[in-house]
Amino acid sequence: LAARKTAVITGSTSGIGLAIAQALAAEGHNVVVNSFSDTAADHAIADAIARQHKVKTAYIKADMSKPAECRALIAKAAETFGSVDILVNNAGIQHVAPVEEFPIEKWDAIIAINLSSAFHTIAAAIPLMKKAGGGRIVNIASAHGLVASPFKSAYVSAKHGIMGLTKTVALELAREKITCNAICPGYVLTPLVEAQIPAQMKAHQMDRETVVREVMLDKQPTKEFVTVEQIAAAAVFLCSDAAAQVNGTHLSVDGGWTAA
Ligand code: NAD
Repeated sequence: LAARKTAVITGSTSGIGLAIAQALAAEGHNVVVNSFSDTAADHAIADAIARQHKVKTAYIKADMSKPAECRALIAKAAETFGSVDILVNNAGIQHVAPVEEFPIEKWDAIIAINLSSAFHTIAAAIPLMKKAGGGRIVNIASAHGLVASPFKSAYVSAKHGIMGLTKTVALELAREKITCNAICPGYVLTPLVEAQIPAQMKAHQMDRETVVREVMLDKQPTKEFVTVEQIAAAAVFLCSDAAAQVNGTHLSVDGGWTAA
């Protein structure tokens, strides 16, 4: 999108979301930074982006596991900046366990945060985008939106689900100059991935180095982690005018993982 717009990025105090917030600010867009906490450090992240890129930013607390808070995030962003033109559904969590032992509350939390939150934010943002004459929705799915791995039943289910939501929303809004696409990252070394190494070590009975090499990077033909900046660049492209006819599809940034 050419002119200065307002972008909401869910789960943007860390990892991929933070990199996308920074990259969209670098493009001159105002950004709303979000997470479920409300600390001085959270607000400092938004303030630093504003200073660095000379755009307006706000930190808005909203827990993406709660439908009302997902919808309130969009309403508050519109109250603050007048519109929501770019919505990046990025908040996500992971839990690794065999399906028969998978804790019910973890299943519910992953479906809520990684899938249902996007339904709620999209539903709230569409009327605003229609009124503004267009918009961009980018859902951060995963290679696990396309293929599965063992011990990640909830995550793989949620990510496959968001691929379906992406395509449906694209079809419904195609005449409104609103596009909806997904990005499917492979392994990116963020706190989310760091945190699953111990569980993978337990599930696979391997040491750390072996998990990284044989479980994680084994999937990636390049044998390298993807960087957050590479994911952010894909998001910037999908939000650009050049991507106006890219709709209802996904961009894999996975080192070749899903080519196999
Ligand atoms: P991360 O843990 O570094 O960041 C996740 C962000 O989401 C944090 O800002 C966290 O505060 C926020 N968050 C978590 N629960 C939330 C909630 N209930 N409400 C609001 N915010 C919440 O993780 P990341 O690796 O940057 O992952 C971001 C997205 O990318 C996720 O959807 C993840 O599934 C996806 N992804 C990551 C990888 C990877 O290898 N890291 C690969 C494919 C897809």
